[in-house]
Amino acid sequence: MFISREALETGVGTAPLGLRIAAGSARSAPIHSASGIAPLAARLAQLRQHWELRLGRLDWTPDLAEDIGSARWFRGLGTLFGLSALALAFLPDFSAMAAPPAMPVDAAARDEFRNQAIQPLAFGAESGHRMGPTDRVSPVANVPERAIIQLTAIYTQGDSFDRVLQRAGVGAGDAARVSNLVAGSIDPAGLPPGTQIDITLGKRSGPGQPRPLDAVSFRARFDLKLGVQRSAGGFVLRPETIPVNAMPLRIRGTIGAGLYRSARAAGAPIEAIQQYLQVLDQHLSLDTAIEPGDTFDIIVGFKRAATGETKVGELLFAGVERNGKPKAQLLRWGGDGQFFEASGMGAQRSGLIMPVVGRITSDFGARRHPILGYTRMHAGVDFGAPAGSPIYAVGDATVAFAGWGGGHGNHVKLDHGGGWGTGYSHMSRIAVSPGSRVRAGQVIGYVGSTGLSTGPHLHYELYRNGAKVNPMSVRFTVSNQVDAKELAAFKAKMAALKAVVPGAAMGPLATTSPVAGLSTP
Ligand SMILES: [Zn+2]
Repeated sequence: MFISREALETGVGTAPLGLRIAAGSARSAPIHSASGIAPLAARLAQLRQHWELRLGRLDWTPDLAEDIGSARWFRGLGTLFGLSALALAFLPDFSAMAAPPAMPVDAAARDEFRNQAIQPLAFGAESGHRMGPTDRVSPVANVPERAIIQLTAIYTQGDSFDRVLQRAGVGAGDAARVSNLVAGSIDPAGLPPGTQIDITLGKRSGPGQPRPLDAVSFRARFDLKLGVQRSAGGFVLRPETIPVNAMPLRIRGTIGAGLYRSARAAGAPIEAIQQYLQVLDQHLSLDTAIEPGDTFDIIVGFKRAATGETKVGELLFAGVERNGKPKAQLLRWGGDGQFFEASGMGAQRSGLIMPVVGRITSDFGARRHPILGYTRMHAGVDFGAPAGSPIYAVGDATVAFAGWGGGHGNHVKLDHGGGWGTGYSHMSRIAVSPGSRVRAGQVIGYVGSTGLSTGPHLHYELYRNGAKVNPMSVRFTVSNQVDAKELAAFKAKMAALKAVVPGAAMGPLATTSPVAGLSTP
């Protein structure tokens, strides 16, 4: 809103209110009119107009590529910086937001969490809320109590028989007497967790008294059921033997496209097939020694209780047949779970046992070291084999060294007596300890690539009176794998196992093992 120059000078016309007052005051006090408010306001308005026109006409956003260094250019630069500063001023703050404090878990809260956990309760834990009756609970008169209560308690990990009974509501005296009785027959600590214990509680002798224990019964072992019954003045133990058929389970079939699938299809338990493959792998190469038309023959320890439960034991025999002729017949023998090939039995074997199933990749002699780069004596023989392949003692021996051997990695040295020794290097894992006795063919470790090694292999050395000699140039006799004394028993067991008819384990229940001397778990 601007006022014309005349209006300002006459103080009349279209001038706004403020100026009219000013005009009025100018009339009454003319002295002030020249240096008074009206000229100042006019001057201000003039200045405002002047700058508004000027600023409005100004080009605030010139092309900064033109007239570089001119006033216009600097104004453009100023605009740029000004707008940039403005934009930066609105930059949001990325500092972390304050989170609400985590819930404080003190001892009381932890107890509460534990009380509300369901699993321990399911296993008969002592946790959980127990609320006693308050004053608001009024006893119901003349309601007959149940005469007996039958319940099931669960024996849990690290439990005690006494505690299980007390948890189920058995009085301390009865629980102690019964658990003592049970402990005289079996070791309750050996009960598998999850064992169900059936408990019968009898009638109370009086109000407020604990119910007396009438009977307890549970499966103590695969072939034994234990019962405890109250009789005049005490408890009697009633063991009940469950008939168990221990006929080994024999499964035969054609290998076909895959051994695992064929054996599963024939009904072999998974753990039996795994053991079978492991044993075969230790004695022959699974890749080349088995063909689709071959027959697999698996015999595992097996138990079947009259009550219906079954239990698969250890692999007893692993066989492969081709065109009706045995290609491998491996029998578990001895306490350490080793398998021995039946076909070679009886003949005294001579020469070195191969320390590993594999091929020689580097001979004894001078060669260029793959890591150190210079030519030097290779004082042993290298066998290429997959990592984890078992390494066997080449003869009966005492373990002279087993541990870290620097560039040899995990290293085992065997003393075979008579000045002979052998060394095994780069193992992934050592399976013997220093000073122990090992037999020929016993697994002493596993192929690896520890120490100065470019890949999984066995570096094998032979010592004659401490000096390294070519392992392949020496032949020395090793004792037969199965002791001559045990050979007859070994053959008898083999014959007995091979007489087992496939599927016989599922036949009518026989309570004694048909295989003499067979001890299955
Ligand atoms: Zn080597």
